[in-house]
Formats: sequence, structure tokens, C-alpha cells
Amino acid sequence: MYGIFSYSIAGPHVGFKHGDHILDLGQVALLGVFKDLGVHPAVFAQATLNDFMALGRDTCRAVTARIRELLADGERGVETVHDQVLIELSRAKLHLPIQIGDYTDFYAGIHHAENVGRMFRPDGDPLLPNYRHMPVAYHGRASSIVVSGTPIRRPSGQVLGPDKQPVFQASESLDFELELGLVIGRSSVLGEPVLVGEAEDYIFGVVLFNDWSARDIQRWEYQPLGPFLGKNFGSSMSAWVLPFDDLEPARVQGSDQTPAPLDYLQQAGPGHFDISLEVLLNDTVISQSNARHLYWSFAQMIAHHTVNGCNLNVGDVLATGTISGPSLDSLGSLLELSWNGSRPLTLSDGSQRTFLRDGDRVTLRGRVGRRADGSGDLGEVSGRVTSTK
Ligand code: CA
Repeated sequence: MYGIFSYSIAGPHVGFKHGDHILDLGQVALLGVFKDLGVHPAVFAQATLNDFMALGRDTCRAVTARIRELLADGERGVETVHDQVLIELSRAKLHLPIQIGDYTDFYAGIHHAENVGRMFRPDGDPLLPNYRHMPVAYHGRASSIVVSGTPIRRPSGQVLGPDKQPVFQASESLDFELELGLVIGRSSVLGEPVLVGEAEDYIFGVVLFNDWSARDIQRWEYQPLGPFLGKNFGSSMSAWVLPFDDLEPARVQGSDQTPAPLDYLQQAGPGHFDISLEVLLNDTVISQSNARHLYWSFAQMIAHHTVNGCNLNVGDVLATGTISGPSLDSLGSLLELSWNGSRPLTLSDGSQRTFLRDGDRVTLRGRVGRRADGSGDLGEVSGRVTSTK
């Protein structure tokens, strides 16, 4: 996995996570190991992955293969090259790996959408009429996306008081959302849609993504234009980006899509991925889900996003939306786990939660496929809630 790190007086550099170590690509590249690939060492002496990603998928793939050659046979491959290029992870400071241009948040988790519909529109179909026809989304805020480990300050805002009048207060319904983020590694051309069959070529890699949400602020503000201050106070992403190719062994068929989507959304072959996900609230595992529960595939999200000519840029992040599974122990938000506060959870220390308290830490973890050798670990994204003061 690729990320940005610094330590003591060195960096920030591009690094490649290898177990408990980071391969310092800023140093390794100076040894000329990527020279025959036409990659200038300067792309690794950067504070973001953007320049590296912009080299294109074929070059990034070749670099990854070269790195894995170097790391083969334990660490000997690297040690024979240089003994100062593997940095202990514990010594490193990790940075937000991407200069994020635009952030779009989809709503592709059908179980989440159904649960929210059941809660707030108990009469009739829990899904809105458009849901099975398009991957719906809104444009989020890139400026407040932070790297794993960054504290999240409880937001204040307008909420509807008991007498149905707005009051200004700290959110009392602070929540997390279990999502994946797609990091875009290729720009598209304004005015030209990305075809669904080519859409995956635009994905550099995948991160774990917590789209923190203030439900009480969201509920009062969201109509008619959608989420705003209930969402844009912070989102957390993991420090390490898993290359998209690493998902390939876990490719699976998604659930049936009926009615059939319009032609531009019809994807040939399986487009979903078996990525197991879990949520910890402090020390308690409160949910276990899987990315295969998404209704819309990554490629369908990109095809829909660009079908009107909207262009993607290197460094954009597209989040999937909350990935809930079909069972009560696989729900991807406290809104669902506590059923809007009516069903408190009991944590391992005996305390109860409906929504997040100050001091709570939420950690999302992920693993690609079911390989026993530990490969495909997506790592984690973690954040602790601090008070508004
Ligand atoms: Ca979200």
C-alpha cells in the first residue's frame, strides 16, 4: 500500500507499507531502481501521491511489481540494495496521502438506504423511486478530509428543538459511516463520459473512509438540497492506499440488479469485491460488513458520475456511501445500529451508546478477500471524538 510519511528530519516522501515497516521510495528511487521504467525519482520526494498516480496505471503497476521484487524473500532484496530504506512504521508520522480535488459521496449501500427509508418514511417503499436506476450521490467537501488518527471535533449547528424551533447547540447525534473511498488516478476529459467498461482504469486505489455525520444537524438542513453542515465538518481516510489491482482476486458478482439499469450503467462481468469490513467503537466490535453488499459497483458509480460530461481529476475521492449488510450485526452506522437512538448498544465495558460520546474512538478495518496469508489487509482508519470546546 502506498502512503505519505515523514520521520525525524526526513520526508515527507512516498512510502510503501511492508508489514511493520515502510519502504522509503524517496530513497529507493535515488538508487536508480525505477530508472528503466522511466520514472523520475522526484515523484517520490513529494508530500502527496498525486504526481505518482498521474504517471498512469501501467507505470504505477510496473512500479508496484518492482517494489515487490525488491521486497521478495523477506527483506533481503531491499537489504542488499540499501539498509536505510526500510523505516519502522512506529517511527513514522503518516500524512494525508492525496491532495484531494473533489470529493463525491455516493449512496450505493442498498441496505443502508432501505434502513434509512424505513426509519424516516415508514409508509411505502423504503427506497426512493430512483434508487435502483442510478447510483445517487452528492458533492461533498474535500477540505475537511483528514488522515486516520486526526481527532474529530464535535460540530455545533442548528438542530430542531423539542418545540420544533431551531436551536444552536453541539450535535447530540454524532455518528460514523462505514465506507470505502476510491482514489482517482486518471483525469477524464470535460464533456466526455467515461464508459462503464473503462471506468476501473480511472481508479488508482482504495481506502477505508469514515464519513462522520451529525444526524440532528443533517435532519433539519437537508431538504431540498441535501447534506451540508451535518457532513462537511470532517471525514477520515486511511493513511495507506491499496492499489486497485490488489482487489482483483476478490472480484465477485454483485447482487441482482432489477430492473436492469439503463445501457450506460450495464457492466459486463462482475464488478463487486469481497472486502470484509468491521467497525470498532473503542474496544468493541459493533459491526461486521462486506463491500459486496453495495448495490452499485465502483465502475457504475464512475460511469454515472461522468455521463453528463462531468470530468474526474487525479486526486478526486469518490466514497461509496455507508456499507451496511443485511443483518443487524452488519450495519454501517449508529443511526442504524441504534435504530435512530431507540435501541442502545452495550459496549464491552458495560456502557451504552446510541450516538457517539466525547472521547469515543471509532476504527474501521478492512481486508480484501479471505486469504490466510495476511495479504490484502486494508489497514484501518481511526478517529477520536473531542468536545466542541
Ligand atoms: Ca456518507
